[in-house]
Amino acid sequence: MSRTRRVFLITAAATGAGLAGAARAQAKLDEKDPQAVALGYVADATKVDTKKYPKYAAGQVCTNCALYQGKPTDAVAGCPLFAGKVVAGKGWCSAWAKKG
Ligand code: SF4
Repeated sequence: MSRTRRVFLITAAATGAGLAGAARAQAKLDEKDPQAVALGYVADATKVDTKKYPKYAAGQVCTNCALYQGKPTDAVAGCPLFAGKVVAGKGWCSAWAKKG
């Protein structure tokens, strides 16, 4: 097998695996999901209903919440409170807890 062909096959295999991985990616949590509603989750923390959630303080977002499963730079990541879904890094819910 020529080197070019081998490289092509390796690249194709890697790309295929990447696509399969993307297809398996978890769905974004919908704000209308009953569990999301129950916890006051919003995908954009600046939209938090501060009358309903007076404990919310500006600057609190999923990425700096102790429960956020991703890196602080990840746009979305898992949260144990919403199994099988990913939450927005810029999101917020009433279970927000200070990291560390
Ligand atoms: Fe975001 Fe934390 Fe609420 Fe999970 S618990 S949705 S990471 S604020």
